[in-house]
Amino acid sequence: MADSYWIKRQLDLLKALEKDEEKVKKRLAKLYLQDAQDLEREIALYYQRYGKDGVIEFRRLLENADPAQKEQIWKAWESFTAQNPEYAHLTPQRENIYKLNRLEAEQESIRLRAMESAARDEKIITAHLSKISERTRIGTNIRGGAFHKTLAEIASRPGRVTAADMSYYATEFGVRDYLITDREKMAKYLQTDFAQGIARGDSYRTMTKALSERLQKVSRKDAYGIIYTEGTHVHAEASMEAIKADFTEYSFSTYNDDKVCKICRALEDHGPYKITEAVAGVNFPPMHPYCRCRIEPHVSDWDKWMDDYVARHSATKEEAQKMAGDFQ
Ligand SMILES: [Zn+2]
Ligand SMILES: [Zn+2]
Repeated sequence: MADSYWIKRQLDLLKALEKDEEKVKKRLAKLYLQDAQDLEREIALYYQRYGKDGVIEFRRLLENADPAQKEQIWKAWESFTAQNPEYAHLTPQRENIYKLNRLEAEQESIRLRAMESAARDEKIITAHLSKISERTRIGTNIRGGAFHKTLAEIASRPGRVTAADMSYYATEFGVRDYLITDREKMAKYLQTDFAQGIARGDSYRTMTKALSERLQKVSRKDAYGIIYTEGTHVHAEASMEAIKADFTEYSFSTYNDDKVCKICRALEDHGPYKITEAVAGVNFPPMHPYCRCRIEPHVSDWDKWMDDYVARHSATKEEAQKMAGDFQ
């Protein structure tokens, strides 16, 4: 069924989704640049406060942090978790904040910034996934007849983004956990870069350049990976949602170019699979980070499928034939 209407539609839809993806990536890249600039300003204050001739003596950072600064960190955590209660478990113990030395206080501030960016990105990414889901469902909805709408019609509808959908992707798709894990890792890198830079006697300029590059590079890598991989997941799940009432089996489809890996190739060769037995990462996309595979409905006996379709939907034989034709 290489040229079926369904497959053509799927490929067109994926192309439209890639455009959305580019937009989100651009938006995030801008935010990471801002994050880097904010961090630079904070480091500048640090050098002003503790430095001399543009460098900081490491010893000075091992002194007990200023009480006002500790209070500020605690207040910042409080207001962050008041707005993002799902991140409350990441809050450090209050008494530990009050034990921080100057170096640790700055490191804690770096970590808080990383978590603030995770919470912000979670909203942007889950809204994007909700949109993919909505478009895929509209674009492939067989019974609603939306399957036959043009892509322009679908694209002109604003994607429905509800709080419930966003929360579903944040938790069930693990977007929040991915972001938290990756940003904790990033914060550790930055904290180490910062401590080592001070110990080496790095100037403000050398320090901020290194931190800024690190922050932008790591954030982009994390976020793009999630957008790409979970985009595949949402697309596959929404396709499944659209076909599961009328089909019992699906085949696994790769892009069929030279980038396809052995795992995905083998799944494509091996199918079909039962819809009720689909498990993401086992026989259902995505199989791994950056997987861009999809599913297609599979039918071994089209005559029987058409009879079933007529019975299930009180449709005419012609309607069933037309529908079957879209998949053959
Ligand atoms: Zn693969
Ligand atoms: Zn794949």
